[in-house]
Amino acid sequence: MSDAEKRPSNFIRQIIDADLASGKRTSVVTRFPPEPNGYLHIGHAKSICLNFGLARDYQGSCNLRYDDTNPEKESIEYANSIAEAVEWLGFSWSGEKRYASDYFEQLYQYAEELIQKGLAYVDDSTPEEMRAMRGSLTEAGKESPYRSRSVAENLDMFRRMRAGEFADGSKVLRAKIDMSSPNINLRDPVIYRIRRAHHWRTNDDWCIYPMYDYTHCISDALEGITHSVCTLEFEDHRPLYDWVLDNITIPCHPQQIEFARLQLEGMLTSKRKLNELVQRQVVSGWDDPRMPTIMGLRRRGVTPAALRLFCERIGVTKQDSVVELQQFETCVRDDLDQNAGRAMAVLNPVKVVIENWPAEQVQELTAHAHPQKPEMGERKLFMTRELFIDHNDFRETTDDKDFKRLLLGGEVRLRNSYVLKAEQAIKDATGKLTEIRASVDHNTLGKNPEGRKVKGVIHWVSASHSLPAEVRLYEPLFTTLRPWELDDYTTALNPASLTVVTGARVEPSLANVAPETRFQFEREGYFVADRHDCKPGHLVFNRTIGLKDSFAKLENKAK
Ligand code: ATP
Ligand code: MG
Repeated sequence: MSDAEKRPSNFIRQIIDADLASGKRTSVVTRFPPEPNGYLHIGHAKSICLNFGLARDYQGSCNLRYDDTNPEKESIEYANSIAEAVEWLGFSWSGEKRYASDYFEQLYQYAEELIQKGLAYVDDSTPEEMRAMRGSLTEAGKESPYRSRSVAENLDMFRRMRAGEFADGSKVLRAKIDMSSPNINLRDPVIYRIRRAHHWRTNDDWCIYPMYDYTHCISDALEGITHSVCTLEFEDHRPLYDWVLDNITIPCHPQQIEFARLQLEGMLTSKRKLNELVQRQVVSGWDDPRMPTIMGLRRRGVTPAALRLFCERIGVTKQDSVVELQQFETCVRDDLDQNAGRAMAVLNPVKVVIENWPAEQVQELTAHAHPQKPEMGERKLFMTRELFIDHNDFRETTDDKDFKRLLLGGEVRLRNSYVLKAEQAIKDATGKLTEIRASVDHNTLGKNPEGRKVKGVIHWVSASHSLPAEVRLYEPLFTTLRPWELDDYTTALNPASLTVVTGARVEPSLANVAPETRFQFEREGYFVADRHDCKPGHLVFNRTIGLKDSFAKLENKAK
């Protein structure tokens, strides 16, 4: 059975299967065609997994092609971040990276061909005039007075456009199709505009730039793409895609296939809106761990495998829908539960002094890095007279029957260590707890205490054998599940989206942790060593996700 057969089928695979069976195609060539005008987001991950996944499963190939026809908004930084995201997700493109700008000369020649065939003309109408002549969904458009220019005049004008004789915006080249078509995309669409903009690759070679619809189909055909997969909003553009390829001399005609874009609760999936968050400094940058960008999710601690799993689980359809955040979080947890090592970190430490433990005694204990995976190795813990436990794990008294942690006079298991009893709570003049005096039952290491049951288990670190750490706690960026519906998203920013905890303590096995190592901090959640800021001597961890759903919390807040 091939990989393609093992995966759940979808309507795109069915089209490909039929094409291969009928002999219409003999191979599968796809492409991922981002515009380098921002960092990729989780929606792009879906498109990447789909396009590269098809190529992999059908032993075909997938190109990475920058759709770089809009010079003012594009940059090399964005282009690099895109390639980095694709590679990080675990895919490799076929051959070199491709650029629509590499085809500028060919695109230009095809435009001359259309002119020669009487299928394109130079229009001097102003943008307002063109808009007025375009008509509406219920009303046919009107033909431009320039539509009947001769081939010779059009050719001359277009060449002079290229030569820079005309001002920006003063003329355009339009395809001559049908001003009364019910499909507005076919009402003589603009295919070239004059724009004196510096291009990050072609510099100032060009002052005319081809439009997306015209560029995309020809780039696909030049690369021998068989199946050109794109999102649903391009469905109405497909007749134009086909018209261009049918009317120029080009041997290849890829098939455009549309699928529903990914929309995920709580996340914006538009580079333009994400750019706004960056520009307005709502976040620290494109890879802020709260961003739904691939680089933001990476920094947050999400693994490439979890993203691929998510894209696989949501599948591919033609139906627009909003995916529940919970579905994403489940993939993240499923993956980290399997693969992240365990460690102990105390986020809100309070000191415990064990009165029946000698000050000079240090006992080395071992714990598995992962409870089900002995191959992940062991870590050393150190039991000492002074420990830190989490403030929230101690109460003097409580009415809460579910509180299974440490009560004054009560006992609790220290994870991987002894049973501890709280003897006395020491407070400062303001009544704030400063220290817990305690004792351990020396006969409880690796075994239950005699004659009584101890239910609770808490995490801890040694005061002397632990390390300070900064921990960044993340919550959803917005207080609404549908931030894309807001006119002004600043009205729904979550003030608690980032909490920086500076006084945390972590177990000593983390002293030389490599950036991007992921952990389950026991009883706290999943964390990752920050890829930029975490260094030996200055440990910084980002909370990827809690152990339970943050979804429920968000929903409650939204109510
Ligand atoms: P944005 O609005 O964020 O700029 P885009 O579609 O303009 O998105 P491109 O750089 O043109 O961004 O996208 C590259 C590819 O990724 C396209 O084929 C596009 O269809 C696909 N894509 C973009 N957003 C999504 C999404 N939310 N879900 C699935 N595929 C997407
Ligand atoms: Mg775009």
